[in-house]
Amino acid sequence: MDIPIPNLPTPLQSIDDETTRRAGVRLYLKRDDLIHPTISGNKWRKLKYILADARRGGYQSLLTFGGARSNHLYATAAAGELLGLRTIGVVRGEEYREKDTETLRFCREHGMRIHAISRAEYRRKEEPEFLSTLLARFDRPYLIPEGGACPMALPGIRELVSETIGQLGKRPDFFAVAAGTGTTAAGMLSFPDTQVLAFSSLKGGGFLREEILRLSNRDNSCLELFTDYHFGGYARHTPVLLDFIRRFEQRHQVLLEHVYTGKMLFGLYDLMQKDYFAAGTTVMALHTGGLQGRLSN
Ligand SMILES: *Cc1c(COP(=O)(O)O)cnc(C)c1O
Repeated sequence: MDIPIPNLPTPLQSIDDETTRRAGVRLYLKRDDLIHPTISGNKWRKLKYILADARRGGYQSLLTFGGARSNHLYATAAAGELLGLRTIGVVRGEEYREKDTETLRFCREHGMRIHAISRAEYRRKEEPEFLSTLLARFDRPYLIPEGGACPMALPGIRELVSETIGQLGKRPDFFAVAAGTGTTAAGMLSFPDTQVLAFSSLKGGGFLREEILRLSNRDNSCLELFTDYHFGGYARHTPVLLDFIRRFEQRHQVLLEHVYTGKMLFGLYDLMQKDYFAAGTTVMALHTGGLQGRLSN
């Protein structure tokens, strides 16, 4: 497969500070933010085998769904352009008209055709009848569900897990990851004998448990889902979160964003402070990238 080859393996950065030391936790940040300039983080990992599947099937175009600030749309536009595949991004019309975001501008500049549908139609984005009408209209493109939430996304995430185990020389006790659709968490869980801590970046993320377990085929005991670190909801933030991010960035010389990885690390630090982990525990936290959405400060 051939999405342009990135920096692999991505670095595994040891994170050492007062909190990790006091908790006795060996914390590593897997720097998938460095994987590719425009197809960053978990989007590259998820798209790798999805795109290979599309090419194997002889498809000339890709159709997918996303919000006006979707990192998934952004990455799909970039990957499609690099691979010579046409891309169609389906967005909610209301969102599209109200705010022409940086993300949608980037997508269009990189060749994506933006197709706006109503909120009511968008809700039907998984119904077979709705989808077949939509696909027929665009000359039968390869369909990628919103966020790449499909089984073809999982093998790329399993490679990330085995890459980490190779770098560390052993399996970390926990893998920590932010969850939007939960697909990345499901990919980690689908690797044998992993324990996954998933941090919902959405308010009311309780539904993610079922999604993650269904996609991964693992049982509940391997997954801990945290739903209280959303800071008001998807892409919302508070001064407390932004302050944590600023301090972490300065201390560890790594950029974070406030939508996913910043919230996950905040949660992880909170757990360490509350003695959630036994001393000697090893944790791999995944930097899922998405830095184009970072607030400038
Ligand atoms: C999309 C995204 C996520 C969420 O991934 P899911 O597999 O949908 O849970 C996390 N972090 C970043 C930076 C993302 O772009």
